[in-house]
Amino acid sequence: MTRFIFITGGVVSSLGKGIASSALGALLQARGYKVRLRKLDPYLNVDPGTMSPTQHGEVYVTDDGAETDLDLGHYERFTGVASRQSDNVTSGKIYSGVIAKERRGDYLGATVQVIPHVTDAIKEFITADLHGEDFCLCEIGGTVGDIESLPFVEAIRQLRNDLGSETCLFIHVTLLPYIKSAGELKTKPTQHSVKELLSVGIQPEILLCRAERAIPEGERKKIALFCNIKPECVIEALDVDTIYNVPVKYHEQGFDEQVVRYFNLPTEPKPNLTPWKNIVQRVREPEGEVTIAIVGKYTSLLDSYKSLAEALAHGGIANNVRVNLNWIDSQVFENADTLHHLEGVNGILVPGGFGERGTEGKIRAAQFAREKKIPYFGICFGMQMAVIEAARNLGGVPHATSSEFGASKDAVVGLMTEWIKGNQLEKRRQDGDLGGTMRLGAYPCDLSKGSKVREIYGTDRISERHRHRYEVNINYKPQLEKAGLTFCGMSPDGELPEMIERADHPWFIGVQFHPELKSKPLDPHPLFRSFIEAAVAQARLV
Ligand code: GLN
Repeated sequence: MTRFIFITGGVVSSLGKGIASSALGALLQARGYKVRLRKLDPYLNVDPGTMSPTQHGEVYVTDDGAETDLDLGHYERFTGVASRQSDNVTSGKIYSGVIAKERRGDYLGATVQVIPHVTDAIKEFITADLHGEDFCLCEIGGTVGDIESLPFVEAIRQLRNDLGSETCLFIHVTLLPYIKSAGELKTKPTQHSVKELLSVGIQPEILLCRAERAIPEGERKKIALFCNIKPECVIEALDVDTIYNVPVKYHEQGFDEQVVRYFNLPTEPKPNLTPWKNIVQRVREPEGEVTIAIVGKYTSLLDSYKSLAEALAHGGIANNVRVNLNWIDSQVFENADTLHHLEGVNGILVPGGFGERGTEGKIRAAQFAREKKIPYFGICFGMQMAVIEAARNLGGVPHATSSEFGASKDAVVGLMTEWIKGNQLEKRRQDGDLGGTMRLGAYPCDLSKGSKVREIYGTDRISERHRHRYEVNINYKPQLEKAGLTFCGMSPDGELPEMIERADHPWFIGVQFHPELKSKPLDPHPLFRSFIEAAVAQARLV
């Protein structure tokens, strides 16, 4: 039997519901339970794939090719459970499903309404594709009281009636703001937020209260009294120095214990949190530090590179060093005389990206890394930029470019019009839809004998997640090999270049996929581990 835990948020957004849900998932897992985590997003986009990363943050891609909310990245990093298409839904997706059914005539003449048709579709989503999980944690995006989240809140209210209170738990995450002049943590916004939930028929059982300072006993009792909650279910959630400390801290506050108590499950034995404690220890007391420059375009909102920043931190954890991230807008390098900004860094990373703006700066950064023998990691767009640089400066294709920036006879990087997915041939056209049409999800890649990447992975076949529309054109292989690039990773049919490396450089690797999506604190990704190791070696040189 799967138990459902619904996590809502109140008072303000950005309370870290995603991390809180992930940490609870990790704690339940550490108690021996099988978990799944899901996110229900109230916005009208069908998925975040078409949203600007500087507005919505990173698009997290699953193995099965869904473009999802970045919280799924947290879920996966904290629990190691690979997220699926069925773990993230939006109002847009729910409504398009309902409307498609209506057009087909599936509702047999009924008037199609939010209740029950939309709420039924939401309930179906929540309860589908579960396979013996003990717990399914569902986070509702947005803040309680938002107009657009009402159908989701109504659906979870109904589900609790349908399944029974012994199977469903409501957790509400709120904020206790500290008012300096009064010297107090204020409980009123939390009271109001719970009232808001009550007005739609939901009484939360556990409150997770984010606060800058410890909650005095009196305030805790007051919250409990006014919100109709047991005092021990008012959980203090203080700010922490590293997110990997969240499971440890929440456990100390009795969060997971109250959850298992609610479901009448044994509270003993306590979960073993040693792995998390070890990570916190490593983050707090590194033996050294390195600085990595990230030359990208979406640097105004660091959430656009969430998994990347995490994966680099994991690389640091693996090497026992602190990784300082130097975010640089690639447009800065459109002037050649600004490259000295990269002088002191121990590694340069050009991440994924879209569109022409800032690309010349990325190309210059790749050239700088190549010439100065600074470790270079090109991810997706970053690999394409490194390939264009090599083609232009060493491969005899001076006007090399990508067809993403317009038609060209020198498109060393070109639109992928056909590729194999499983047993199917996928086809794309230049004028096709933008939403959901990239090469998405996990694809296998063969690593060539004697390559550095094969040594790093320790295997000859890998599976990594993709999200791109363009590819390095294999027809330019001779010119690119002349430019010193080795095609060290290829799709199994030998058609798509997936990885490149340079033999004449200490660490120069480009990958067409997004390895950052699979890195975890308890299991750092081999490429990030190795990149940071190379940066450590570089730091010794300077
Ligand atoms: N814009 C490039 C493409 O579509 C790279 C995409 C990416 O970096 N994710 O191929």
